[in-house]
This record gives sequence, structure tokens and C-alpha cells, in this order.
Amino acid sequence: MIELSKEEFISKTTETDTMNLQERDKKHLWHPLTQHKIHPDALPIVKATGALLYDDQGKTYIDGIASWYTAMYGHCNPYIIQKVKEQMCVLDQIVFAGFTHEPAIRLSEELIHILPDNQQKIFFSDNGSTANEVGIKMALQYYFNRGEKRNVIIAFEDGFHGDTFGAMSASGLSVYNGPFEDFFIDVKRIPTPTSQNIAEVLKQLQNIINNNQVAAFIYEPLVQGANAMHMFKADHLNKILEICKKNEVLTIADEVMTGFGKTGKNFASEYIDTKPDIISMSKALTAGFVPMAVTSCTQNIYDAFLDDSVGKAFFHAHTYSANPIACSVALAGIELLRSEEIQNNIQRIMVSHQEFDTKIRNHHKVQSTRQIGVIYALDLNINMDRYGKKRYEIFEHFMKNGIALRPLGNTIYILPPYVITEKELNTIYKAIVVLLDTII
Ligand SMILES: *Cc1c(COP(=O)(O)O)cnc(C)c1O
Repeated sequence: MIELSKEEFISKTTETDTMNLQERDKKHLWHPLTQHKIHPDALPIVKATGALLYDDQGKTYIDGIASWYTAMYGHCNPYIIQKVKEQMCVLDQIVFAGFTHEPAIRLSEELIHILPDNQQKIFFSDNGSTANEVGIKMALQYYFNRGEKRNVIIAFEDGFHGDTFGAMSASGLSVYNGPFEDFFIDVKRIPTPTSQNIAEVLKQLQNIINNNQVAAFIYEPLVQGANAMHMFKADHLNKILEICKKNEVLTIADEVMTGFGKTGKNFASEYIDTKPDIISMSKALTAGFVPMAVTSCTQNIYDAFLDDSVGKAFFHAHTYSANPIACSVALAGIELLRSEEIQNNIQRIMVSHQEFDTKIRNHHKVQSTRQIGVIYALDLNINMDRYGKKRYEIFEHFMKNGIALRPLGNTIYILPPYVITEKELNTIYKAIVVLLDTII
């Protein structure tokens, strides 16, 4: 082994690793959601701490969306690092079929403790899409095991559930789906409810159920993340879920984005009286450290898979299912979520958002605003293409001001890490005001 002094190591790494990162990136890397022919080069980030990202020029950016809703307790959170280190020295990986381990057992206990009361069983996978894939497969096989062939899933228009085939089929955002639609499972759609259309939505839902063999309804509870943080009322969603329950249509709450405190409660489903049969979660589950996902379900669903025949078991596995290191991250994350400090932070951010909202919601460039928990969104009163040039200009305005936000169409939204300081939050608010006053 070559021994380098600290100084030599730093100079070596700056020479090789940080030199021309953008050039080296372009040589072999294919980025997600990127049209490489027209997209600007990706920005190298070399370090992150708390709510801050550092680029290779030493410039900092406030992570206004917690790196896609993951790093809610702050980047490189020291408490989580400590827990990961301890776990890494003890047990790294073990096959989760036929073996078990304490981190997974403890995590199942902790999750059941914070999930809605009817949830009893925890199934592991790797990401939000597979968590939904598992939920959909559970629902389909639940009926298969009972000797009923139910082959239709209901979902909201403009929902997003991920990029694997089942999850993609359920997603209504067609820009992602075009080339694959011929291969989809059968999904019928209903609009998201409003005070104006709720009666019509319920009618459509009942019609679909009457005329199809419906296994499940999958939905993002209260907030559709990818659909520009579109929000709807708990009461309306509850009416939809009641019809599903009455007609034995299983309900799958996709809490991949909303889970772990973002709506002001641990799970958005807590706002809704009718509890889902299945809940999928990921993103903040592992606090931005490593990928992992969970699909939870009721005892009733689990019991439908118990049989003397192996064929009725749930044959779905990922090699890294319940990886002990990922479990230790999730355990530390939940511990932080339940701490007074983080709960106070969530309340503080909610109040700050509300105060900011009263200041700007009547601005002539603002069409509408909405908020739940730490999620705040505003629609600009301008005409623009969802993926067009204007969006890029708005993005650049924030980047120049040291803020990483990803506007969606004419919507600007903030979903900050819970550890963001008031000063950092105000920097974001101010940049939004400048945008409204002078840029657009
Ligand atoms: C991000 C997201 C997914 C997909 O999760 P991945 O980990 O990106 O596969 C699914 N549903 C919702 C609501 C999401 O926000």
C-alpha cells in the first residue's frame, strides 16, 4: 500500500479527482431525466453539510429541496454517521431470505410504532419505485391467492409513482411514459378531487369499480410531488378511500415523498380517517445516506399469503433487501425525527412559510400558493413551458444566489431539510421576492 501524508493526499486528490470533473463526467456518464444533447453540464458537488452543498469552486448552495426530499436531517448528519460507523464494523450484509438481523427487526418495530395503527408487516426493497411495485404486486397477488382475478389498478391523473413498469403504469405524467405505454398494466384514472368536482370524481370511481375487476387504488396522499406539489383535501381523499373500502378495492398510499414528517405529521395518511391497506416509503427513510425502501401492509394482506403451498408466498426479492447498514441509517433517522429538536424545527419552518406566504401571496406575479407542513409551493402568474427556457432562467437565478431549487413548470417550491436555519430560509424567501419583483 502507498502511504501518503495528509498534504500529499489532498494534493493528489485535487489533481486527479477534482480536475475537470465536468469533462470526465461527460465521457462516460448518462444522467437521469437529462436530454444530453441540449442540457447544460452537470454541476460537480464535492461536499455537503447541514442544508449546504459545496461545488468544486468552493461556492455554496442552500439545498432547498433536501436533495429530492431525502436529506431531511441535514447532509452528513454526524449522529447518523456515528450509527453507520458502528453498524459497518459489526455486520455489513446478509441474505434476508432465511436469515435475519437486529437492525431490521428494530427498524420494523420502530416503523410500526410511527405508522398508522392498522399497519403490521414490513417488506424491504431498494427505492420508491420498487416500494410501489411491491405494493401493486401484493395487491394483485392478494386477490390471486383468494382465487379472484382482479387485473385493474386505479390511480390519479398526473400522479407519479416511479419508473419501474408497474409504478410507471400507475403514473399519469406522460412525458416519462410515452415509449413504454404498450407494455403497461391496466390502469384507470380519476382526477384529483376539488370542491367543485368531488361528486363527479366519486361517480367516476364507482363506475370504474362496477365495470372492471379492480384490485387496488394507488395514490399520493394530499400532495403530488412530481405534479408540481399539487395538493388536495384530506376530507375529499377520505370519501374516495371510503368507496374503495366498501368495494374491497385495496388502497396503496404512496408516501415515498410525504413520509417522515414533511406534511407536519409523520405520515400524510394520519390526516385522513380511512387508513390505507398498504403504504410505500423511501426517500427520507434513509435520510439521504443510502437507498432503501419499505412497503408496509395490514395483517389481513399478509395472512392472504400464508398457505401450505409455496406458490402463494410473495416471491419478490432484492439482493440488498434490509441491508443492515441501510437499516441502521433508517433507525438513526427515525430517532432524529422523533426528537424534540427536529419536531420543533418542523414547527418553526411551518410558521416561517406561513409568514412568508402572507407577504407574497397577493403579489401580482403570484397566481396561487399552497402549503402543508414544510412543503411550500407558489405558482407564477406567467405563461411558460413546463420544461422550457424560462424554467432554466428561474433555476439559474436561484443558483446565482446560492440556492438549489428545481422549479416545475411555473411552480416554485421549497422542501427544505428540517435543519435549515432561519437565515438560510430567509435567503431563499428573499431570492423569491427578487425573482417576482425584477426577474420575471
Ligand atoms: C420519488 C418518488 C417515487 C419514486 O422513488 P424512486 O426512489 O425515485 O424510485 C415514487 N413515488 C413518489 C411519490 C415519489 O416522490
